[in-house]
Amino acid sequence: MIEMKGVHKKYPNGVTALNGINVSIHKGEFVYVVGPSGAGKSTFIKLMYREEKPSKGSVVMNGVDLATLKERKVPYLRRNVGVVFQDFKLLPKLTVYENIAFALEVIEESPKKIRRKVMEVLDLVKLKNKARFLPNELSGGEQQRISIARAIVNRPGLVIADEPTGNLDPDTSWDIVRILEEINSRGTTVVMATHSKEIVNTLKKRVIAIESGRIVRDELRGEYGYES
Ligand code: ADP
Ligand code: ADP
Repeated sequence: MIEMKGVHKKYPNGVTALNGINVSIHKGEFVYVVGPSGAGKSTFIKLMYREEKPSKGSVVMNGVDLATLKERKVPYLRRNVGVVFQDFKLLPKLTVYENIAFALEVIEESPKKIRRKVMEVLDLVKLKNKARFLPNELSGGEQQRISIARAIVNRPGLVIADEPTGNLDPDTSWDIVRILEEINSRGTTVVMATHSKEIVNTLKKRVIAIESGRIVRDELRGEYGYES
């Protein structure tokens, strides 16, 4: 599904964030990305939805090289990739329902289909009863569940989460990871950057560890491997 070969990323300020990444992630996998702050995890993830381009090397997703993908084709890529952020990034003036429907309106789905799909994903994250609420009327964990609902409503093949539990307490974090696991069990590939030792060591999955822009470890059913 994703193949990176010889990927380097040097930002305009001269910082080298990635320094020779070679990796394949297959359809249906659940992958944790771990490593110290500043290691390059976010940059690695940003390459997968073309938020950043590599300075060198290739990032191929389903046969398409994202390094050379034309700007006007980026929206098509984004439909197949759902992204979840640490700080949720919900639109504050739109209701829960509208935040999720927005992703479908831009692709001109019929109102009836939009309604069905939004209610289906709200059901999946168990927040049907909050459809008319504004984001700031929800807890952090609920806001994150809404952002997951928004990320999957187009049924993307890949969901990427960049420290999705970074702002949440441990119990709430587990709710979020269980939802991601449920989405994965239905066939969606999940890539999640995390600092949660407890989650990684409990729910054993593939672990890719990045340090100073390089993959230093890549294990199926791996460990977190850092103190905290
Ligand atoms: P992590 O997610 O592991 O904390 P990042 O990918 O965010 O790591 O950052 C890797 C390195 O790249 C760090 O040194 C960081 O300061 C730098 N960096 C990240 N984003 C930018 C940017 N937009 N411009 C310049 N440097 C950046
Ligand atoms: P159907 O295809 O009839 O909707 P499924 O069993 O395939 O039935 O899906 C049921 C649930 O999966 C729905 O509630 C839907 O909201 C949810 N869902 C939506 N998008 C995704 C996705 N990308 N990955 C996993 N589940 C999803």
